[in-house]
Amino acid sequence: MRAIVVGAGIGGLAASLSLRRAGVEVTLVEQTARFTEVGAGIQLAPNATRELRRLNVLAAVAAQAARPAHVSFRTWSDGSEICRYALGREAEDEFGAPYLVVHRADLHRALAAAVPPESVRLDTVVVGIDQDDDCAHVTTASGERLTADLVVAADGIRSAARQWLFGEDEVVFSGTAAYRALLPSAEVTDLDLPPLAVWLGPDRHFVHYWVRRGELLNVVAVFSTEEAAQESWTAQAEPGEQLREFADWDPRVLSVLERAGRVHRYGIHTRTPLKRWSQGRVTLLGDSAHAMVPFQAQGAAQAILDAAVLGDALTDATPADVPDALDRYVRRRLAGATSMQARSARAGSEFHLPDGPEAEARNARMAAYAAEHRFMPQATAWRAKALDD
Ligand SMILES: Cc1cc2nc3c(=O)[nH]c(=O)nc-3n(C[C@H](O)[C@H](O)[C@H](O)COP(=O)(O)OP(=O)(O)OC[C@H]3O[C@@H](n4cnc5c(N)ncnc54)[C@H](O)[C@@H]3O)c2cc1C
Repeated sequence: MRAIVVGAGIGGLAASLSLRRAGVEVTLVEQTARFTEVGAGIQLAPNATRELRRLNVLAAVAAQAARPAHVSFRTWSDGSEICRYALGREAEDEFGAPYLVVHRADLHRALAAAVPPESVRLDTVVVGIDQDDDCAHVTTASGERLTADLVVAADGIRSAARQWLFGEDEVVFSGTAAYRALLPSAEVTDLDLPPLAVWLGPDRHFVHYWVRRGELLNVVAVFSTEEAAQESWTAQAEPGEQLREFADWDPRVLSVLERAGRVHRYGIHTRTPLKRWSQGRVTLLGDSAHAMVPFQAQGAAQAILDAAVLGDALTDATPADVPDALDRYVRRRLAGATSMQARSARAGSEFHLPDGPEAEARNARMAAYAAEHRFMPQATAWRAKALDD
């Protein structure tokens, strides 16, 4: 069995590993000429780290990650704690895998190191995918035509494959944008920050956590805006712009934003849920299928789950079985990923409630839930397993 995976992001790399584990010969095609250190923090809940363990990369990822003991939800104006939920050893014991926070480049590097270099073709832009009854084909910008038994399009939120398969459909601006920054930990030690915190305020929320073994603080400051901002991991904010957006927030938030050197600004986009992801021998995976707002921190995790299920669906399949195996993969993943898209959007609305009765009711609800349960409500999704026990 041969597969072509388009896109060597988190989902494409994980899919390559999972398919290889299932005995499939994989060619991974990526448009960038080399992997560079772009991006910032990514959270990996136990549903993702469990699968990274099955792919034999968990130890390498964990060696570069941080393990927050808990997440603290706080009030925007004075930092008073609304509630906290356990994430550390307790979560690992409960869910059978750790909660990690990691720089995307470290996660990417760990996954890429496990993929045989001879199976990766960098600097190769895919410009078309087509298929017949027996094979699927990928056409590259240089005019080459590659053939395999299946094609997995893990080409990210701006997926062209999605359009080739299912027609015109654009990315959707979420009405939110974010400032992102990474600060050396030494620059914020005096602020006594918790390991992972989400500060909630009207039309805004502020997230920070340590990455790279605690050496860097990852900061994401999200705000509602009607002005459609660019979806880019490299666009920079105007100097001091972030301070104006969060001007009246708790002084600790302002201190972090003041000390942030290079600040990126990016518009948060999603994709409309699809009714199907595959057609014959070609399927979507990760953001190309279900890009979501990051307010449940599940974007990368959902791509990793897709990869795990895809490998399971292809195990013992023959080339003739591919369309059925892809249908099995989609049946197993589509509902869960689609509901995570909706949950993430709802979380954003809850986070951004105006001060007053609604926010007070939310805070009371969160505090009551935390008093009764050790883990946050979304932890129910961390039990999702690629394979049934
Ligand atoms: C450079 C970069 C930095 C990011 N940084 C962060 C971050 O800091 N925090 C965060 O939460 N999320 C980040 N993301 C998004 C995050 O990786 C995804 O939301 C999630 O991991 C799902 O992964 P994915 O594999 O579906 O998509 P992605 O990780 O976006 O990967 C898609 C891959 O497909 C490749 N590709 C696209 N079109 C083609 C084509 N026609 N031919 C060949 N290759 C193609 C892209 O170059 C990319 O490598 C980043 C994505 C990228 C690409």
